[in-house]
Amino acid sequence: MSSRTLEPYRRRRCFRITPEPVPKRRSSETRRLFVVQEHDARRLHYDFRLEVDGVLKSWAVPKGPSSDPAEKRLAVAVEDHPLDYAGFEGVIPEGQYGAGTVVIWDHGTYAPEDDADVAAALREGELKFELEGRRLKGSWVLVRMRGKDWLLIKRRDRYASSERERVRGP
Ligand code: MN
Repeated sequence: MSSRTLEPYRRRRCFRITPEPVPKRRSSETRRLFVVQEHDARRLHYDFRLEVDGVLKSWAVPKGPSSDPAEKRLAVAVEDHPLDYAGFEGVIPEGQYGAGTVVIWDHGTYAPEDDADVAAALREGELKFELEGRRLKGSWVLVRMRGKDWLLIKRRDRYASSERERVRGP
């Protein structure tokens, strides 16, 4: 059994052809996963995914996440993906939805700020959360602008950095 919200994911794919995971309902229970996949499709983008209620809520971030709080990155909501997708790396064949190469760019766990109800916060259009990844750490926020368009923004903390500083620095 897979979640009803995974139907768009299932519909778009032919699992006899693509090596991507077939949706199965499961939960990691002890910790909530996040993953960022670099997806070299028609246009290179970064897929940002958070585990929520047994699925991966997903956004396509054209420029990728930035640790600079001044860099607000567009994050376009896309269909839920199955939890198993968090481990997926490989080549989606030509002619299949999202054809191109998928590489895990970062992964780890996340926690909503103040132990908030993540699904409710996303419905309301604002989720503040802490990332514990290899590259991405500390406090972040996802804010809905309109429709499927969200912004992914680093919040100021000790993990924040300025892009300008990084260019100048060692
Ligand atoms: Mn993608």
